Amino acid sequence: MPPTSRLAPSPTGLLHVGHARSFLLAYWSTRSQGGQILLRLEDLDTSRVRPEFYDACIEDLRWLGLDWDGEPLLQSDRAEHLRGRAQDLLKEGLAYPCVCTRTEIRAAIAAPHSGEARDAYPGTCRGKYATIAEAQTLSGRTPALRFRTPTDPVRAHDHFAGEHVLRPHEDFGDFPITSRDSQVAYHLAVVLDDAHQGVTEVLRGSDLLSSCGPQALLQQALDLPRPHWIHVPLVHSHTGSRLAKRSDSLSIRAIRTAGIPAAQLVRWLAHTCGLPDHGPTTPQAMTRYFDLDLLPPTAVHLPPDLIHDLTQGKLPPPPPA
Ligand code: GLU
Repeated sequence: MPPTSRLAPSPTGLLHVGHARSFLLAYWSTRSQGGQILLRLEDLDTSRVRPEFYDACIEDLRWLGLDWDGEPLLQSDRAEHLRGRAQDLLKEGLAYPCVCTRTEIRAAIAAPHSGEARDAYPGTCRGKYATIAEAQTLSGRTPALRFRTPTDPVRAHDHFAGEHVLRPHEDFGDFPITSRDSQVAYHLAVVLDDAHQGVTEVLRGSDLLSSCGPQALLQQALDLPRPHWIHVPLVHSHTGSRLAKRSDSLSIRAIRTAGIPAAQLVRWLAHTCGLPDHGPTTPQAMTRYFDLDLLPPTAVHLPPDLIHDLTQGKLPPPPPA
């Protein structure tokens, strides 16, 4: 069966060259197998989403030459349904209300009696409140909901990382499925929307590899199919730092505004993915050369002045041996 995949940008800032590369890879992987690719705007985190970035995301993806099947899905359009599913998990005893603030969680993690310092939620509210109303009355706070992670290890398979075994309690702990302001949290929204859209292949940056544990547990609990996970190496700045939406110097928009044709950027990015050079090109034209086995296993380091290099038609240096 040809895969169904998705591009899932969050409209919280301008997309950067790292997004462009992951989205091209998702596109090539799907289209080279004759599959469908969908667009989903992940806009549930209202504290970070900005109205102007919805259109900006779509325009930048179109400028790059990407296309997708059907209309984009707005995650917020399904917010009510997603919240309902979080409530179902609570009713089934698979989640519980949690009134801890970030500061309290940090303090509890740092406390000497909690053993080794780690990021996992220490389970303070586990078993403390029977219902949301009870949590609210006793604490005077609106609770979040946390998934009650089992002790048994969970296995996840990634195309590059292979089979890995995660220990839920040690590796990530009871993770939130809704926030204290009742927004459905990332892991739950992603697994429900991927299942709703019939997504069978998820190709995204390796910074999300650690999501496999929580997402696999949710898929198990909700009896949802597991997609084929492909986590690809990231793009780093020339100093080795991760690209962030905050610094928009390497946004697709900045490259476009500098007058670089999309075909030049696609050529450059295709080359970082191990594809042969065919000069300035389009995503569609490169699909036939795509082979996931050609993808270098290490992060791409941007040159100090990518815009200058693109203007000169310079190609990226080969990845370090
Ligand atoms: N929306 C997420 C992001 O922009 C990607 C989520 C995913 O691919 O699972 O980082």
